[in-house]
Amino acid sequence: MKQKGKNKRAEQFFTRMENLLGTGETHLFMDAIRQYSPKSVRYNRKLVPLSDLNGAPVPWCQPYGRYWEKQTLPSRSVEYTAGKYYIQEASAMLAISAASQVIDFSGKIVLDLAAAPGGKATQAAELINTGYLVANEVIKKRLDALTWNINRCRLNNIVVTSLAPNILAQTLPGFFDVVVVDAPCSGEGLFSKQKHSLEKWSEKNVRFCAARQGSILKDAAVLLKPGGYLVYSTCTFAPEENEQQVELLLSRGFIPVDLPGDMPVSPAISENENIRLCSRRIFPHREGGAGAFVGVVQKQNDPLPVGQWKFHHGQSDPVIRLKGMRYPHIRTEEAAGYFYEKNGIISNFSHEYIPEFLLQSGYQIGAPVIDKIRAYDCMFGSVQLASPEAIIGVGEAEAEAYARGEELHLNAADGYYYIAFNGMVLGPVKVANSRAVNKLPKPLRLT
Ligand code: SAM
Repeated sequence: MKQKGKNKRAEQFFTRMENLLGTGETHLFMDAIRQYSPKSVRYNRKLVPLSDLNGAPVPWCQPYGRYWEKQTLPSRSVEYTAGKYYIQEASAMLAISAASQVIDFSGKIVLDLAAAPGGKATQAAELINTGYLVANEVIKKRLDALTWNINRCRLNNIVVTSLAPNILAQTLPGFFDVVVVDAPCSGEGLFSKQKHSLEKWSEKNVRFCAARQGSILKDAAVLLKPGGYLVYSTCTFAPEENEQQVELLLSRGFIPVDLPGDMPVSPAISENENIRLCSRRIFPHREGGAGAFVGVVQKQNDPLPVGQWKFHHGQSDPVIRLKGMRYPHIRTEEAAGYFYEKNGIISNFSHEYIPEFLLQSGYQIGAPVIDKIRAYDCMFGSVQLASPEAIIGVGEAEAEAYARGEELHLNAADGYYYIAFNGMVLGPVKVANSRAVNKLPKPLRLT
């Protein structure tokens, strides 16, 4: 009886896809979703020169998106510890890559409303120079993965928060230049990764997800400045969760943003020309990968009331507080950015002002560099500020041992140092009597 129910759901899913793609293509699609996607990484454009990129390019995320062609796993390399790339499924690169072709992220204040584990947040933050990004994840147990991925990428321009979208919308209406909503969805693109999940699929869940997406988008709309951009994405195929959400936004006065016609991906599935202009899809049997949808729309430039912002300077005289012999291992005077202190953690943040509300509610502000509570311990976020005198180069075997979390022996005076290999600063150690205690946080160690 139970088996019959499961088969019925799989049949229903097939019929829905048949309505989108036709019978012949749906068979190809069904074969493709049961396959694992090829491994891929997105190189960190802030750290990696073009000449160091490896592997065949991901066509819709050039030049930094690459298929992983080495025999070893991408998670087992010292380059991963060095933050040189983020391991990201190729179709998941579409949303920010497409948006970046029509939005100049460099000076923007960006919100990623559903950010964990951080693929799109880190991709967008790497495009930002003078602005910053708020990476929000409502589910607290997903914050660790998000913050460690941000820290591994050496990004100091992200504030991590954990708030319900409606709370953010009440507090910061009209504040953001760009809001990214990579929505929780029915995950039809992830069937290959989750055994039997196709049999657990249901129309009821699609409807539930669509309603939740509508509610998140309502808050996202409030959070945007007039003239700001909303980037909406999912990893599912159901039109209710994709084109129909964009249709709703357009019906509420959003303007479609014309995505480049020559992107090597699939068009949106809609009779509505405006939806086709601003939306794209990836299908596993056509472009490869798990599948994705993106839509980019712009809030009308109407004179909506914008909230009053209470700005907060990072600290009264932030850099002076870090000068002196206490921190000989990190650059403070000439360091780009500002130092914030919260709950005994001193962090390096790229931006001089953030609203008081973000400072108060932020789970992490920029890159944590000093833990005052634990005897002024050096934190991983200080790697980008390493003083040249504190950097100690090691060979490959020692670098790998360090990345695994092992202790090293170094002939150096007692104090904090940074282990580097091949020009890559991997992380801190604390030397006492030539014993270099490994300070690479456990979540960043190679297993
Ligand atoms: N953007 C992430 C990335 O690229 O790595 C993936 C985001 S995932 C598709 C969707 C996220 O939405 C999950 O982290 C989930 O915890 C979060 N989420 C679940 N319910 C939510 C809600 N009601 N409002 C906002 N976010 C929610």
